[in-house]
Amino acid sequence: MPRIAYVNGRYVAHRDATVHIEDRGYQFADGVYEVCEVARGFIVDSKRHLDRLDRSLSELAIDWPIHRSALMTVMREVIRRNRVHDGLVYLQVTRGVAPRDHPFPVGVRPSLVITAKKTNPDALRHKAEAGVKVITVPENRWDRVDIKTVGLLPNVLAKQKAKEAGAYEAWFVDPDGTVKEGASTNAWIVTKDGVLVTRPADHGILRGITRATLFDVAASLGLRVEERAFSVEEALAAREAFLSSATTLATPIVAIDGHPVANGHPGSVALSLRQAFFEIAEKSPA
Ligand code: PLP
Repeated sequence: MPRIAYVNGRYVAHRDATVHIEDRGYQFADGVYEVCEVARGFIVDSKRHLDRLDRSLSELAIDWPIHRSALMTVMREVIRRNRVHDGLVYLQVTRGVAPRDHPFPVGVRPSLVITAKKTNPDALRHKAEAGVKVITVPENRWDRVDIKTVGLLPNVLAKQKAKEAGAYEAWFVDPDGTVKEGASTNAWIVTKDGVLVTRPADHGILRGITRATLFDVAASLGLRVEERAFSVEEALAAREAFLSSATTLATPIVAIDGHPVANGHPGSVALSLRQAFFEIAEKSPA
């Protein structure tokens, strides 16, 4: 079955889906995006994702390409046309197409692209149950990573470095030794007392939607969450470390820069958060 993408008002074959060479997303990374999980036929946390999209757009003074409710309708239609029961829906909004010039163009409509793809929940679960490795890299991104822009080059380079080191993720670390977040995930530890720790969602990290929902999941399991910075050393000595994103949910980390986290086995707190996630998250039928 051929994949279908939505591009600026039209449903087109994925392999033929194109945008103009003067799209500002292509030329300046002048755009934002969202990735929502689709699980068991539901779009997970769509409200929080579209609220974050709203914030990203407004921080960059880009208009909504279509009304929010119409966007939900198109997301559902792309999911339906691609027969995604478990997977991801990706949406990207750029400032639009205009002759290349740095200042904002006037009277230009934002571009909207939506795609959906299937994932294999069993493979993702097995990966989580085995745990993943991370490496650390120096923080070298701009200070507005709270805006979910498509300008991801430092993240791409960090992820590639992780891959070459046989790891899944790279943690950006500040000069003071504290962990910011991963290239595409938020970072967490569980202290010896069983408290979940994750960096405050100020301008220094992306306000992960999975991170936000994990606060609710933690509360439902009677776990305490503390928002504060932690160092790589603290993570290595912690009871557990894990990462979170719409794609990975909560996934245990078993090694950092080749050193085992705790006993080097996937943590049970991360796995129970993962297990309870779907129940607690907001779900709307896809
Ligand atoms: N941090 C970064 C840099 C990301 O790119 C992502 C997801 O793409 C996350 C964190 C996790 O965010 P979410 O839970 O909304 O997927």
